[in-house]
Amino acid sequence: MTLTRRAFIATGVTLGVAAALGQMPKPARTHRDRWYQFGTLVDLTLENQDPAHAAEVSARLSAALQRMNDDWHPWKPGMMGDINRALGTGQPIRVDDDVRRMIGQIRRLYRSSGGAFNPTIGRMIGAWGFHGAPDAGWTPLGDAAIAALRDTRPTPDDLFLDGDRLGSRNLAAALDLGGYAKGFALNRARELLREAGIERALINAGGDLAVLGDAGGRPWRVAVRHPQRPGAVAWLAVSGDEAVATSGDYERFHQYAGRRYAHIIDPRSARPVSNMASATVVHPDAAFADAAATALIVAGPSRWREVAKAMGAETAMVIDESGRLDMTAAMHSRAHPLAA
Ligand code: ADP
Ligand code: MG
Repeated sequence: MTLTRRAFIATGVTLGVAAALGQMPKPARTHRDRWYQFGTLVDLTLENQDPAHAAEVSARLSAALQRMNDDWHPWKPGMMGDINRALGTGQPIRVDDDVRRMIGQIRRLYRSSGGAFNPTIGRMIGAWGFHGAPDAGWTPLGDAAIAALRDTRPTPDDLFLDGDRLGSRNLAAALDLGGYAKGFALNRARELLREAGIERALINAGGDLAVLGDAGGRPWRVAVRHPQRPGAVAWLAVSGDEAVATSGDYERFHQYAGRRYAHIIDPRSARPVSNMASATVVHPDAAFADAAATALIVAGPSRWREVAKAMGAETAMVIDESGRLDMTAAMHSRAHPLAA
């Protein structure tokens, strides 16, 4: 997978803005590491660590994340690829505890988002050409193909667990956890860090991030990238066991005849979303934040508050296609907008 533009900018901005504001003096024994995973750069900051221990923890963490990255890939050979092939034949397949837990959570997220978050639309995402490298000869789907896709109506409610086996009543359901897996992995990363005795950490996977503790007597400061121009739109104060997820229509998209086709699909229309530029959610559960940010993009400028409320995404911020910033009251107390 190619490195996305956002990945570079989000990480650069996080560090750049913090440095510019003079808020991140380098305390002794800060360990920083960076590697490539989940199609993006992962940045790890561990505060106040013995260097040898920090290096060992960092290596263990990237290995654990790599295993998840391989397992959860929706279309490459591997666990999720096997699950999707089985779902498509109607033959239940044995799944592990993680997948069983995940099915429960995605079903709740699907329901509370009113269907906006629906990770069983893997076939729609594939049909729109988002299961591969950008293709120069890409053309949008025609109306008949879109209508046929839409009428397949896969949902997490089609999935069922029979003991340790997962099956689907709808053969069109295919899992694509692109809007959730990074958050799930960040939760796991935070657990692993805590178990390793780390008390203060920030792990940033291309703009989706989780923190442990604080940055040394003050919150971590996290920049939210402006979706339409270089630089940040705001910075957020984040501490304790919290996560921040940002979804955008600017990160991956196809372009055709002057129009942009985003990688987030409205499951009800089977078409790419078009009127929300970005959504950011802060929540203790990184998987929830990831899914909720994706759902708010689908909900769009007119319905995002309603969907945020129904999901329990209290701390949320959105930017619409015209660049207008809007946020919940809880986000107001965290976000420090930067001058345009
Ligand atoms: P990012 O990849 O920028 O972190 P998201 O978290 O919003 O952005 O994830 C987008 C991905 O989620 C898409 O690439 C696709 O794999 C998946 N996806 C697209 N539309 C939906 C949807 N309506 N519900 C759930 N997942 C979706
Ligand atoms: Mg998301």
